[in-house]
Amino acid sequence: MGAGSRVHWNLSKVIETEGLILRSIRYGEADRILHIYTPDEGRMGAIAKGARKTKSRFGARLEPFTRARFTLRVGRGDLHSISGVETISPNGGLRDSADSLDWAARACDAVARLLDGPDPHPHAYNLLVNSLDSVSNSRELATKAIQVSYRLKLLVAAGLQPHLSSCAVCGDEDLISGFSGEAGGVVCPSCSAASFPLGAEALQWMVDALGHPLVDTPKVGEIALRQADRAVSETVEFHANIRLRPASAR
Ligand SMILES: [Zn+2]
Repeated sequence: MGAGSRVHWNLSKVIETEGLILRSIRYGEADRILHIYTPDEGRMGAIAKGARKTKSRFGARLEPFTRARFTLRVGRGDLHSISGVETISPNGGLRDSADSLDWAARACDAVARLLDGPDPHPHAYNLLVNSLDSVSNSRELATKAIQVSYRLKLLVAAGLQPHLSSCAVCGDEDLISGFSGEAGGVVCPSCSAASFPLGAEALQWMVDALGHPLVDTPKVGEIALRQADRAVSETVEFHANIRLRPASAR
């Protein structure tokens, strides 16, 4: 993907990597602590010293959702120190409307919670940067349906793809009546213990959403969307042991 990072451990202990700022937190008098998601080294913590001084050499380049190339000095703990930032895209459109801002915050939060470590998930990185770019360019994409679609794709990138083609317990293909996070997919009426009802529209939509680019996410009714949203949440709860924020404020 050409966005790889280079680590010079022995020479100067410097990491150069592309990344996306998930969170930017004020720290102390003038510093910022960033959570950066990277293609090859997962989530990183980094401190930007003096970032909040008016004459900071970082300027406004450390805002959340910014995609950039970072030069980091390796810290002793797991907090590196930022020595250089070169913006690739500020994704400024995400700050133009409350809906886009909220959409992007939830998308970043899902990555931060689901992929909270140094393992590389380059597909998840690509999904994150492409999705933020799309919503930044057209705010009408900042919907709950597209957030749920994004989360479904994120599950796949994280290796947690729900089983949707037949009953996840017995393999029956004829009748699907529910979804079980514990079983990791859809289930038939005989295997419905610990499941919740999932209708045909929700199942078809999940399959279609996974088969289309995010920007072409198919339309879906409110009840089916709620079911699909719950299927994503329960998959994450059972298999990654974490809770996601709700997909949307509404
Ligand atoms: Zn079954």
